[in-house]
Amino acid sequence: MDRRTFVLGGLGAVALPRKVAYPFTLGVASGDPAPGSVVLWTRLAPSPLDADGYGGMPSGDVRVEWQVSKTEDFGSLVAGGTVTARRAGAHTVRVVAGGLKADAEYYYRFRAQGHLSPVGRTRTTPAAGDAGREFTFLFASCANFEAGYFTAYRRMAEERADLVLHLGDYIYEGGPKPGHVRQHLGPEIRTLADYRRRYGQYKTDPDLQAAHAAAPWVVVPDDHDVEDDFAGTSRLDNIPALSAAQWQARRAAAYRAYFEHQPLRAERLYRRIRWGRLATFHMLDTRQFRDPQACGGLWKACPDANRPARTITGAAQEAWLLDGLGQKLGAWDFLGQQVFFARQVNARGAANMDAWDGYRASRDRIQRGWVQRGVRNPVVLTGDIHTAWANDLKADYADPDSATVGTELVCTSITSRGDGSATATIPNKANNPHLKFYSDRRGYSRATVGATSVRVDFRGVDAVSRRGAAVRTVRSFTLRDGRPGI
Ligand code: FE
Ligand code: CA
Repeated sequence: MDRRTFVLGGLGAVALPRKVAYPFTLGVASGDPAPGSVVLWTRLAPSPLDADGYGGMPSGDVRVEWQVSKTEDFGSLVAGGTVTARRAGAHTVRVVAGGLKADAEYYYRFRAQGHLSPVGRTRTTPAAGDAGREFTFLFASCANFEAGYFTAYRRMAEERADLVLHLGDYIYEGGPKPGHVRQHLGPEIRTLADYRRRYGQYKTDPDLQAAHAAAPWVVVPDDHDVEDDFAGTSRLDNIPALSAAQWQARRAAAYRAYFEHQPLRAERLYRRIRWGRLATFHMLDTRQFRDPQACGGLWKACPDANRPARTITGAAQEAWLLDGLGQKLGAWDFLGQQVFFARQVNARGAANMDAWDGYRASRDRIQRGWVQRGVRNPVVLTGDIHTAWANDLKADYADPDSATVGTELVCTSITSRGDGSATATIPNKANNPHLKFYSDRRGYSRATVGATSVRVDFRGVDAVSRRGAAVRTVRSFTLRDGRPGI
């Protein structure tokens, strides 16, 4: 090992005890799979809740070995190497493990400071021209630590899926709220140290660690990963009161910590993951490039929401998305994104200004864009609203007889909103007949993708206020090739 490993801040070079404290307290993760490679992640943090955000690590950089094997016992190594976990990056480790076979399962682990990490399972995607076998992916969002136990993550791990999409609100930024089943450590987070420590608290959860260790993840952040309801470079309100410079610093710290703690291949968050000729995942960032919410946000009947120049993606991302859809890379085009896409207006004509209803021109341009390009099977995947939905996407939402041009599937939350209920009455159904399914259960969604159909199972846990709840399928739907809608 590099001699710098043994330099402690302020003490100079000293002989460390033979074993330092176990550094892999935050588990391992993998993500952004490609046909020949996958990103591997870990962070060294023997004491992850330390206030300075450095997880109890010494001030120097640390050498970390990584290994990829075909088998869980690491009897046949196929890739490996050494990387440096840098102090400046809070000793996070990101490795692009290359030279792998397409469409193959692998196991990986790390070694540092005389300790071995837990073992993770991951896989690569099929080659671009591969017609591909049926595969299963899960999608989930909104895991407020305070709202309950991460049992849904445990059940996701048990699925041993091929892929997991996380659609935002991986952490919540608030301070502790008394009366919840468990509590955030420290007040509302603002600094890089705060965000690193918050990731430390979340990632020590064994259910979350199990979900990461079971499959590669493809993640995109939403508002709570930074601050509730922020939009682009703006804040919805000045709560908590921050100067412009303090807000800029907070936003930068949040994105930096997100990048440090997720198995991301690159810093640009909107990106495509291809699954051979079977499916393409267009992952969107609807938070960083959007205009401010119309009429001050929340639920409003707001004419300004219809302004043609408004955007939720920004022009560059919109052009990138339409170009990618037009390439018709796979049988199914999944748009993995954050906020409710279909129209949903209430009896007073109000709609959620934080969702696509607050950016109607954006929605119209993208829907029309995929229709014009002859995209056969567009399916929007959504998080954010802590309940499960299945929606038809309409050419004209004011006309129920207009063409159905796509499908939206909204996963519920992992914990946010608490235990939930058996309620299945679709809110605002009278004004929005294209909304077809609703569930108030916590959990996740599972999609089994084949060439001619996709089976969708909405999975719900009975409770999040106690540990170990069972999961069950609340409702299933089948999407058919060439027939948009539920
Ligand atoms: Fe949320
Ligand atoms: Ca959100």
